[in-house]
Amino acid sequence: MSDAGGDVLAEEIGKIRSRGLHRRLRSRQGATDTTVTMEGRVLANFGSNNYLGLANHPAVVAASCAATARGGAGAGASRLIGGNHSEYDPLERGLARLKGTQASLVFAAGYMANLGAIGALAGEGDMIACDRLNHASLVDACRLSGARMLVYPHLDAGRLRETLERYRGRYRRALIVTDGLFSMDGDVAPLAELSPLAEEFNAWLYVDDAHGTGVLGERGAGALEHAGVVPGPRTIQMGTMSKALGSAGGFVAGTGTLRDFLVNRARTLVFSTGLPPGTAAAATAAMEIAEEEPWRRQRAREAAERLRAELRGLGLNVIEGPGPIVPVLLGGSERAVRWMEAIAERGCFVPGVRPPSVPEGEARLRISVMATHTDGQLEVLTGALASVARAEDA
Ligand code: PMP
Repeated sequence: MSDAGGDVLAEEIGKIRSRGLHRRLRSRQGATDTTVTMEGRVLANFGSNNYLGLANHPAVVAASCAATARGGAGAGASRLIGGNHSEYDPLERGLARLKGTQASLVFAAGYMANLGAIGALAGEGDMIACDRLNHASLVDACRLSGARMLVYPHLDAGRLRETLERYRGRYRRALIVTDGLFSMDGDVAPLAELSPLAEEFNAWLYVDDAHGTGVLGERGAGALEHAGVVPGPRTIQMGTMSKALGSAGGFVAGTGTLRDFLVNRARTLVFSTGLPPGTAAAATAAMEIAEEEPWRRQRAREAAERLRAELRGLGLNVIEGPGPIVPVLLGGSERAVRWMEAIAERGCFVPGVRPPSVPEGEARLRISVMATHTDGQLEVLTGALASVARAEDA
């Protein structure tokens, strides 16, 4: 019997391959730490969002194991059906304290937090203004919500103002939705401009700070703190526990009323099983360490800044930014894959990022710096990039 469905899919895979965009899952062993065993090779790891080095911290692992021993491996049901596990309370209180808000609400993933919160806040008859380079989970959330989506150029508060002037009056609710620290570009939203714009145009400001949380700002509160913006009653800060907080899950921080509203209206909370207790406890422990050890965020930021300067010195096209994400723009997808492989041969894992994760023609290496990378590991990386650049020129 012919596999007509399979043929159609194989044809599509062939097209993906011919454009240099084919992806595959690479096998990895061990924890997401500063070194990683990738397909049998031990490499210095620059592909992890474990920015503060907490995912494999003994106290975080111990908290996870202890909570799992007490509470079991799974939550059993959604929080509304199965009961709200006691591990969520300290985590949600801690996240609200970190973000300077009345309350927070955790979801099983950051993706789910975005889908649930934006879907609850906006719908038909509303408008959402989006930065062109917003994360895919925000794009999906905005599309699914049914609201009118209006895209403004990356970081361009002037064009956002024009959009609001032109369209705000036609819609019931307005949301301005942006990454805080952009995941693939490592730059930050101009929140000191966006926040007053939101007020002026009677709009909510929704900031996805998955990457800034724990890393940016004096206290590690994230992109708002970095910009000197105090969250107002209609500022919504979304974040994840899956990056600097070394665990998994997402959250939304804002007013107590927002939390109550989302408990009732966010479909990804209502219809999805709660976080496993061990995951929540690990994130709580990581947040405490992040608070007590400011050297981690300082080191991650400073090491990234030094790396950026060195790579610019090599003539590489590095995007500026205040955090631990260091993108090196390469252009074509094949080139990004070639560089990634050549760097792995020289002892480092750096993911190549291609469309659709980044715009066409903007493939890049995305270097993630961790607080716990040694100077030696960073030197090996710089040496590897210098050598690959020289080999290409030769
Ligand atoms: N927002 C941004 C900006 C992200 O980079 C990611 C994940 N890479 C998410 C949301 C989704 O978070 P999670 O991985 O916890 O689902």
